Amino acid sequence: MSVVGIIAAGGSGERLGAEGPKAFAVLAGRPMVEWALEGIRDPCDRVVVAVPPHLAAGSWQLAETVPGGDSRSASVRNAVEAAPEATVYVVHDAARPLVTPELVERCLAALEPGIDGAVAGARMTDTVKEAAPDGRVLRTLDRSALWSIQTPQVFRAEMLREALDRDPAALAAVTDDAALVEQIGGTVHVVEAPPSNLKVTSTADLRVAETLLAP
Ligand code: C5P
Repeated sequence: MSVVGIIAAGGSGERLGAEGPKAFAVLAGRPMVEWALEGIRDPCDRVVVAVPPHLAAGSWQLAETVPGGDSRSASVRNAVEAAPEATVYVVHDAARPLVTPELVERCLAALEPGIDGAVAGARMTDTVKEAAPDGRVLRTLDRSALWSIQTPQVFRAEMLREALDRDPAALAAVTDDAALVEQIGGTVHVVEAPPSNLKVTSTADLRVAETLLAP
């Protein structure tokens, strides 16, 4: 088995009150992407990081890089193409810097025969409602069957390659790679993640992540 880790760090538009792309915002003294890299590195044979195109040939040398694409899944596809030897891919967002090797291992262990992908997630604790654009509530969903989906997401390599073989619009229409695998009939399971596997999207999240990383 050849396990290749992929970090999606190719988003260029977002900033967290700092210079440069969000994935390179400094968290506890290091770019956020380096924390993500450290979290997934041990269970992987090799890691490829998709970075904003203008950084691909730059000075960040801690990992092998490829240029990111126009969408998150296009970035993942670029990294997949750079690692054709993989039998399993571990896809992870730089925006989740508190990932642990243990969570990656649990996702890998969930790839039993007949399962094509395993994704980290959290049970919904909030009540979930669907609302119209004007704010009018249309319905209340049964949260007992609902999960908030995260990364890492692990896939059998041939399944992810086939799922990503789509036009740019189809890749841009999804918010995770598991959705593409589901669209071609793949079987995906959820693995419960610890509450610490948060997504850093605001400066407040950055402060929370720093607190959790403090020794
Ligand atoms: O914005 P979003 O929540 O989808 O970003 C999730 C992750 O995908 C981030 O780590 C971001 O750097 C990455 N991304 C990417 N290529 C893009 C857009 C986002 O690798 N074109």
